[in-house]
Amino acid sequence: MQIMDVIGIGFGPSNIALAIALEESGAFKDWLFLESAKTPIWQGEMLFEISLDTYSNIQNIPYRDLVTPRNPRSRYTFLNYLVENDLLFPHLNMDMLMPLRPDYARYLQWVARQFDDRVRYGRQVYSLTYEETVAGGGAYHLVTTTGEEYYARHVVVGTGRLPNVPAQFASLQSDRVVHQTKYQSQVGPVASALPTGSRVAVVGSSQSAGEIILHLSKSYPTLKIHSIMRRYAFPLKDTSPFMSEAYFPEFTDLYYRSSPEVRERIDRDIVRTNYGSCDMDVLEELYRQMYYDKLHGKEQIRLHRLTDIVDATITDDGGVRLLLEDHATGTIDSDHFDLVVLATGFSNIGTGAGDLPTIPLLEGFSEWQDLSTGHLNIDRGYAVRFANAPENVSGVVVLNGLCERTHGIGDGGSLSLTAIRSAEIIARLQESDACLSELASAAPMGER
Ligand SMILES: Cc1cc2nc3c(=O)[nH]c(=O)nc-3n(C[C@H](O)[C@H](O)[C@H](O)COP(=O)(O)OP(=O)(O)OC[C@H]3O[C@@H](n4cnc5c(N)ncnc54)[C@H](O)[C@@H]3O)c2cc1C
Repeated sequence: MQIMDVIGIGFGPSNIALAIALEESGAFKDWLFLESAKTPIWQGEMLFEISLDTYSNIQNIPYRDLVTPRNPRSRYTFLNYLVENDLLFPHLNMDMLMPLRPDYARYLQWVARQFDDRVRYGRQVYSLTYEETVAGGGAYHLVTTTGEEYYARHVVVGTGRLPNVPAQFASLQSDRVVHQTKYQSQVGPVASALPTGSRVAVVGSSQSAGEIILHLSKSYPTLKIHSIMRRYAFPLKDTSPFMSEAYFPEFTDLYYRSSPEVRERIDRDIVRTNYGSCDMDVLEELYRQMYYDKLHGKEQIRLHRLTDIVDATITDDGGVRLLLEDHATGTIDSDHFDLVVLATGFSNIGTGAGDLPTIPLLEGFSEWQDLSTGHLNIDRGYAVRFANAPENVSGVVVLNGLCERTHGIGDGGSLSLTAIRSAEIIARLQESDACLSELASAAPMGER
């Protein structure tokens, strides 16, 4: 049985960046990634390629790719992707600060493909435990849904955040209620079979909500789209360069050492740089579309502002009935929809609304976890602090891209710090090994 030095769970941008850092640092010899998807694809469920619309560009300048901030001379930079794919000059000619999303997705895939010998695709890890009895001492034990078993001294969980499904929808099992993370695979088959005039509700006022409304309106012109939001209107993304310093590497230290109250205060200020807000190009496109419809006597997209969804039920005809509280009129009305798309984002590990105390993959450590603060305890190096773990446990479980509530806004739903975080994670793994060898050398020979 082989015990790997490091196994990464998931091979999205966070762990792809880690793979680059592992290769370039040579810090560990035996490392491997297990990815549930069959091929590398970045947020494929929201990768719209129907037309060349400006709204499908990314929100991250390409100098802050998977590697440049850590090693600008790397061959895995976005710039080198352009060069090696014969795209450099036409790309520069477009004068776009943020690349098109399909372009960036191809960059990520281009990098991922260069690690094919280090990744097992089609392997979803469903169990993670620690075994003390394996040869050579203890190791983390991973089992995949394909029935394969793996062992590692260190595990890096880079699975991305879990979908945030509002409580009203949590118990509904229906192909008519779809979270944005299943948009392409689930909405297409349902929406294309709906008769003319069918009603689709899109819940939320985020960038994803705006993009989904535009995509629905362009792909299914015969459907009626109802945009349901608690806000008065779609907020514009905060692009203040001062607020955007929250994506600087040094912000992580400031945020990590701040009290929960100070973190909350910071979050209140910076939230619109990434959440519950839309880029201007999306808003303009949406507004123009609605104006164009009006000119032609149509109303395909309708806004339900200041509206809370009080309740949701599946109806006999398979549709969804929503109880909507309109705070502008003070009325509560029941409304029937043929399809509901939840553009309601993702859950963090934390204690806020919609947060989770821990992640399901750590279920095997329920006795080791100390959740007395309301959520998992994570150290500055992104390793889980298992309060009740046996003393002789070696190696760490590190969370890569899941620590927004403790490490700040650059951590969860953002590409911006993947390069820097990778170096910090490798340093944390090395620190764990150094502690272990110190302990071993301090112990009398017979006890080693
Ligand atoms: C539509 C959309 C657009 C976005 N655009 C931007 C943007 O422009 N700029 C930006 O900075 N951020 C953007 N984001 C934020 C996004 O979170 C990051 O870009 C990035 O995808 C995070 O990378 P990750 O590797 O942490 O997670 P993910 O990209 O979610 O990757 C996680 C990977 O782990 C795999 N996985 C999950 N569970 C398991 C398991 N149990 N076993 C094995 N494999 C598993 C998944 O299949 C996936 O490949 C966007 C997010 C969305 C949803």
